[in-house]
Amino acid sequence: MNYRVLLYYHYANIQSPEEFAEEHLQICKKMNLKGRILVASEGINGTLSGSIEETNAYIEMMKNDPLFKGIVFKIDEADGHAFKKMHVRPKPELVNLSLENDIDPLEMTGRYVAPADFYEQMQQQDTIVIDARNTYEFDVGHFEGAIRPDIQSFRELPKWIEDNSELLEGKRILTYCTGGVRCEKFSGWLIREGYEDVGQLHGGIVTYGKDPIAKGQLWNGQCYVFDERLVVPINQVNPTIVGKDHFDGTPCERYINCANPECNKQILSSEENEAKHLGGCTIECTKHIHNRYIKIHDISHEEVTKRIAILEKSLNLA
Ligand SMILES: [Zn+2]
Repeated sequence: MNYRVLLYYHYANIQSPEEFAEEHLQICKKMNLKGRILVASEGINGTLSGSIEETNAYIEMMKNDPLFKGIVFKIDEADGHAFKKMHVRPKPELVNLSLENDIDPLEMTGRYVAPADFYEQMQQQDTIVIDARNTYEFDVGHFEGAIRPDIQSFRELPKWIEDNSELLEGKRILTYCTGGVRCEKFSGWLIREGYEDVGQLHGGIVTYGKDPIAKGQLWNGQCYVFDERLVVPINQVNPTIVGKDHFDGTPCERYINCANPECNKQILSSEENEAKHLGGCTIECTKHIHNRYIKIHDISHEEVTKRIAILEKSLNLA
């Protein structure tokens, strides 16, 4: 375990995100880091991998920059890089709620709830816990009893809340996301919408999993992360599997992208079922002319025809 994966964000006023991103990319490359960083006029949000020395040097550089005073890094041990390349991209915003009037978390955000307090408060009556992530993240792991907004992207969240406001009325609201960057805005938006008692899990799920008191308790399944690991464990006390195979519903935590490049949907599937379905999430995707699974695995036309025939037969029987 000579490597580390860093996850961090910091809301701050960055004057010219384009210039900053260009310079920052050169610095990261010099430091041999790999990963993805977003830079916007509202701040920075990144995840990086590198050796212990390299990531330490990066952390120190960022902490010494007055612009990022108070920045917090979540650190995971790893046995190698978790990314293939280094990207630093300028963006209009760090996370996008698609609001006409965006939320500035430096001015308005929910109360920060430390992991140990979150663990206590989420069990209290009249409290609801809302997952601020997408369904493909929720489905491999989430807090027990949490609300699952039916969204594919963060920008759909305000509309979903507006359509389901009866769930929130008169309740104490707790929100959570992977590292906290989404909740900074989402909880601020809830307050602006008139909800009075809004808390956000400070440091996100990954911090909760490392907290010496909370120990990840009441978290079911794993936590989806945006690097090559795909999922990380959270619950140190009684870990469970909640992910279900897309094809047969059996317990599963293995993510694949649908082999149809025009679909690319992220689904959970065993290696066996992936092969059976030639990587397609539906029969249409399996039969897609540009099916990547068939190309990558160099499967003969004869074999493809055979597997599709078996699939179609089982579909007709169902
Ligand atoms: Zn598909």
